[in-house]
Amino acid sequence: MHDELHDLITKTAARVRMRDFLWAVGISAGVGLAILFSGLAQWQIVVVGWGAFLAALAVRYRFSSGRVWAEPIQQIVESGLSAQQAEIANLKIARGVAQALPEPLFILDAEGIVELANPAAEKLVGSREIEGRHFATVLRSPDVFEAAETVVNGKKPVTVDFKTTGTVERSCRAFVAPLAAESANARSLVFIRDLTSERRLDEMRQDFIASASHELRTPLASLLGFIETMKGHAKDDPEAQEKFLTIMQSQAERMQRLVADLMSLSRIELNEHVPPRDNLDIADIAKDVVDSFAPLFDQAGAIVDFINEGERSTSIYGERDQIFQVVQNLFDNAVKYGGDPAMIKVRVGRGEAPSLVDEGETGQRAGDSAAQTAGRLGIQVDDLVYLQIRDFGPGIERAALPRLTERFFRVNVERSRKSGGTGLGLAIVKHVMNRHQGGFQIESRLAGGTAFNCYFRAKD
Ligand code: ADP
Repeated sequence: MHDELHDLITKTAARVRMRDFLWAVGISAGVGLAILFSGLAQWQIVVVGWGAFLAALAVRYRFSSGRVWAEPIQQIVESGLSAQQAEIANLKIARGVAQALPEPLFILDAEGIVELANPAAEKLVGSREIEGRHFATVLRSPDVFEAAETVVNGKKPVTVDFKTTGTVERSCRAFVAPLAAESANARSLVFIRDLTSERRLDEMRQDFIASASHELRTPLASLLGFIETMKGHAKDDPEAQEKFLTIMQSQAERMQRLVADLMSLSRIELNEHVPPRDNLDIADIAKDVVDSFAPLFDQAGAIVDFINEGERSTSIYGERDQIFQVVQNLFDNAVKYGGDPAMIKVRVGRGEAPSLVDEGETGQRAGDSAAQTAGRLGIQVDDLVYLQIRDFGPGIERAALPRLTERFFRVNVERSRKSGGTGLGLAIVKHVMNRHQGGFQIESRLAGGTAFNCYFRAKD
């Protein structure tokens, strides 16, 4: 384009010079002939004069100033072109920035027509043909559109909260600002942030605080009640006092467990993003837990069977204390809910953990399977180490399975409280598994028992 224009100017200048030259030749030939025929001068003088004139013209043609007068035009055109090129480059950068932004961005003209919509914007409204359409038909939020209409006239930027209506309702915040309001091409920019997950997290945090305070308030109220009674009508009744003190002790212990569990949960969450680096053997840890809790198992009448399946290594990278806590929490549950007396089978090995289906039973499952965990980690199922803690208790109903790892979720609240549960044991397990990038699966069958499977990436 630039070269073409340059050529055109040069050719036009040459054509003008040639035309001037021919005109000069023609006129001077005419004048020469007129002088000759009128007898004003001798033909030799006319021919010499005409020759000199032609020579002067040729010299002028060769070194014509035509080139010089074309130059300023060329310069003006060139500077105009380079300004345009710079603007195009800036527009390309601006478009590139808009395309790269992970958040939805629209640019609207003064009439509210969408001039630019980035891929995130297309995703938000669920359509790829947005540019050229009126904004009101693209994003069905009258508040945002009204804001865009007012800011385009040079008003200050505004922020509008709105909800999208679709299959999934999303909470969003739009930042609407004027773009080049002083120029003839006034536009407005609409930048949207999806606040759905932040809001959900906020709600979860509030729910969590509400549940945690409720859990603490119950034993606290009971403690205060007993203190009141002991100060009042049970003041001189040592037998009642003894009974109340026992209950108070168990309530205080429950509060202590609750605080300890809450603290471990927050500690795990705090460094959930830091990959654990200790070199551990899952089989050794499981055996350690079995040995250290042997007296407790005896006391509860639980029978524990430890099986290390296969010869391959069960080493992983992990954090010892946290894995110990996982195994301990799962044992704890198996003893509490795994039948009376509890029969507990602990299995460690490589690949996929044995399933209730292998025992000829159909179970319901929730959580990550071995294949899903291996797929997520980009490894073969054989490169997983599993730990399974299986009981033969009453099992868990299907609807409750996916909720077991929620904080404070219990299938039977009374039962959990009676056995000293806090409702946080499996939430802790899930968070530790997340930190270890592992998989956690629950398989259960009513009257057939439950298997809890933990999958880890094998170290070697
Ligand atoms: P809790 O402190 O109540 O034991 P957990 O988070 O450890 O809290 O477990 C949540 C709920 O899951 C328990 O209240 C119980 O209803 C159910 N549960 C856990 N383990 C088992 C199991 N082995 N068999 C049957 N139900 C179980």
